[in-house]
Amino acid sequence: MELVFASNNKNKIREIQQLLPSTIQILSLTDIGCHEEIPETADTIEGNAILKANHVTEKYGYNCFADDTGLEVAALNGSPGVYSARYAGEPSDANANMEKLLKALEGEKNRTAQFKTVIALNLKGKQELFTGIAKGIITADKSGTEGFGYDPIFQPDHFQETFAQMSAADKNQISHRGIATRQLITFLNSIK
Ligand code: IMP
Repeated sequence: MELVFASNNKNKIREIQQLLPSTIQILSLTDIGCHEEIPETADTIEGNAILKANHVTEKYGYNCFADDTGLEVAALNGSPGVYSARYAGEPSDANANMEKLLKALEGEKNRTAQFKTVIALNLKGKQELFTGIAKGIITADKSGTEGFGYDPIFQPDHFQETFAQMSAADKNQISHRGIATRQLITFLNSIK
């Protein structure tokens, strides 16, 4: 069975292919000739994952899964959430995003936050959603150089280091994306 991952990130695609049975072949957007920008206009993380997966299924006729992620900060009522990539404006700039968030939380005692990843899977006419959450706090300063996005200012619960101070393998064990991806893989490995 062919299954599109609505992404062109070769590393992500290879990683997931290796965890699936050889009966499932993962295709990228390029593989199916989808070169347009897929709309991400929903106002929730779930909504955007669903929009992306549905775009591919409706326009190209493939079984497909798509993911969307955001950082939800409690003291900011869940912001930046679905707008995490462009929190400080366009074009997306990780450093500017972190600076804006640190400023918004200046003097704030409640620094709790969570990353949320939702994967929407369209398979044989049915839709499944898989959600992964990583809870933690927003630190006062940036630490670490690994990872991307908000990693230098996100310290997961039960750890004394930020995501950016962890190896990719260690982050993957506890991260929102790792949790959601393992749910997807368990599901795909269980279907006949
Ligand atoms: P996307 O939906 O995976 O493109 O993620 C949207 C935005 O959320 C990214 O541009 C980053 O700013 C942020 N983000 C997503 N995942 C992570 C992560 O694992 N660490 C840090 N920031 C992340």
